[in-house]
Amino acid sequence: MTSDFEAELRAVSLRVTRPRLAVLAALRDHPHIDTDAVIALVRAQQPTVSHQTVYDVLRALTDAGLVRRIQPAGATARYESRVGDNHHHIVCRSCGAIADVDCAVGQAPCLTASDDHGFVVDEAEVVYWGTCPDCATARTSH
Ligand SMILES: [Zn+2]
Ligand SMILES: [Zn+2]
Repeated sequence: MTSDFEAELRAVSLRVTRPRLAVLAALRDHPHIDTDAVIALVRAQQPTVSHQTVYDVLRALTDAGLVRRIQPAGATARYESRVGDNHHHIVCRSCGAIADVDCAVGQAPCLTASDDHGFVVDEAEVVYWGTCPDCATARTSH
């Protein structure tokens, strides 16, 4: 598993470091977590890693395209390592839980804007908002 991350880092010409491997592993196991959660997971493995190092790693991995940063309106930035498929997110208004929603494909793919105004489109960001099952259950049982 670790060697996959090493190959990913080498493929984008990033040096393989233990904090980078730890961040990639944390995001694989816990998609859509915020910076604080990444720091906690990395430091559970490597207590000497500083906050700044984790910030730097997240920025480097995001810039290199290995990690995607998402920031729903009103929420803190979250990170995930599922990249390159332009998938969308559904966010719970109540607890902030986030889940993946595959890109809508078929007759009208998301990247085909109904009117692109001459822009070259390379990304479509769609956020669905609602109430997650846990919150919906909590609401009806009170
Ligand atoms: Zn919820
Ligand atoms: Zn996602």
